[in-house]
Amino acid sequence: MSSPHAARDIDTSRPHSARMYDYYLGGKDHFEVDRKAAETVAAAYPGIFVCARENRAFMHRATRVLATEHGIRQWLDIGTGIPTEPNLHQVAQTVVPDARVVYADNDPLVLKYAERLMRSTPQGRTTYIEADVNDPQTLVNAPELADVLDLTKPVALSMNALMHFVTDAQDPYGIVGNLLDVLPSGSALALSHCTPDFDPETWQKVTDIYNGAGTPVQFRSQKDVARFFDGLDLLEPGVIVGHRWRPDAAPQGTAGTEPVTDAQVSLWTGVGIKP
Ligand code: SAH
Repeated sequence: MSSPHAARDIDTSRPHSARMYDYYLGGKDHFEVDRKAAETVAAAYPGIFVCARENRAFMHRATRVLATEHGIRQWLDIGTGIPTEPNLHQVAQTVVPDARVVYADNDPLVLKYAERLMRSTPQGRTTYIEADVNDPQTLVNAPELADVLDLTKPVALSMNALMHFVTDAQDPYGIVGNLLDVLPSGSALALSHCTPDFDPETWQKVTDIYNGAGTPVQFRSQKDVARFFDGLDLLEPGVIVGHRWRPDAAPQGTAGTEPVTDAQVSLWTGVGIKP
């Protein structure tokens, strides 16, 4: 997409979380400043690559489960990240071709590549909104959102690897609560969140690196991540480490592959349904 606005806003003076995450996933849409910061994280926490990959895999499985078992046809994915195939709508539209997906992120580089998020099936629809999760009212009132989502029908709110960028001072539980408030019964929350629980020392280093780079982070315990699901019916197996949330059957021929560890993954994940 040609977007002079986005091009002007792209800041290469400091690392950005979306671009560092692109590096962890093996993408190409980041700058030198991001690669350097990401390599510092990887030196402290070599599990970061497994964490990023398992985070994507959780999104794929949660999306499929919501589509196949809970009748979800619409998604609001906040903190989308730089497009990485398959994107959420591609996973959802494989199961339900008419799935509708609204993406939102506050990073101008995500806006620049947002056209990749709009290659929808003819029956479905997607759109992208440049928005900050810290202002949920503006996000839910965006006209583009109303164009694509029918808020009288269930919507899955997808917030993967996002809320650890919202510190307690920014009212993370209030934000998620406000978003869920506008969604009807039968809607869902699918959320993943990095945690220091398995290796506090390492995660203190990761916290210091992000904070030092100008991106405040707050990694949370299982109990604090579970609070995001208060008032929802949590699907089995509850709030659990990413790779343990309804894993796919191991493909044939993977015997001998190193199993990933909880400490490598270090992500609490869960899916809840609004009663
Ligand atoms: N959800 C994707 C990407 C996670 S990376 C996935 O799980 O694969 C985290 C994303 O959150 C980045 O793209 C970053 O730009 C975005 N983000 C961070 N703070 C945000 C905020 N306040 N509002 C909206 N998006 C934010």
